[in-house]
Amino acid sequence: MRSENKQKTVLVIGAGPAGLMAAESICAAGHQVQVYDAKPSACRKFLLAGVGGMNITHSEAYPEFIQRYYDKANWLDSAIRQFDADALLGWAYYLDFRDKFSLKG
Ligand SMILES: Cc1cc2nc3c(=O)[nH]c(=O)nc-3n(C[C@H](O)[C@H](O)[C@H](O)COP(=O)(O)OP(=O)(O)OC[C@H]3O[C@@H](n4cnc5c(N)ncnc54)[C@H](O)[C@@H]3O)c2cc1C
Repeated sequence: MRSENKQKTVLVIGAGPAGLMAAESICAAGHQVQVYDAKPSACRKFLLAGVGGMNITHSEAYPEFIQRYYDKANWLDSAIRQFDADALLGWAYYLDFRDKFSLKG
């Protein structure tokens, strides 16, 4: 077996939405993951953001939406196309977040 196929232990620093989603993907790829955060509990900012309800997607048509990233639009285009608003909505529904968030902004 080549070394890149072995299970690895991956450390994720930061238990915000980005870190937790990275951890989920790392686990799904068959690796072990350990998540560390400087704060006493995970996702504090995101949970605070959700207190009054929050928007986690943007309903603007993609060609206009991607231009909001200005000079980084080309750089981000491929990543956002691979995980677009519909994919994010699907993930939120999978986690049964639909009652917590306004899913179209
Ligand atoms: C009041 C409010 C309302 C918001 N409303 C919305 C909204 O409606 N829709 C929306 O999409 N977004 C909203 N946001 C923004 C949203 O919360 C952030 O975009 C999101 O939390 C960013 O996630 P992240 O994982 O990139 O970073 P963060 O949530 O900031 O997570 C980073 C984590 O890394 C940890 N960390 C940093 N440095 C270190 C270190 N050196 N060692 C260990 N741990 C470290 C931090 O403690 C933190 O837990 C809102 C934010 C606020 C404050």
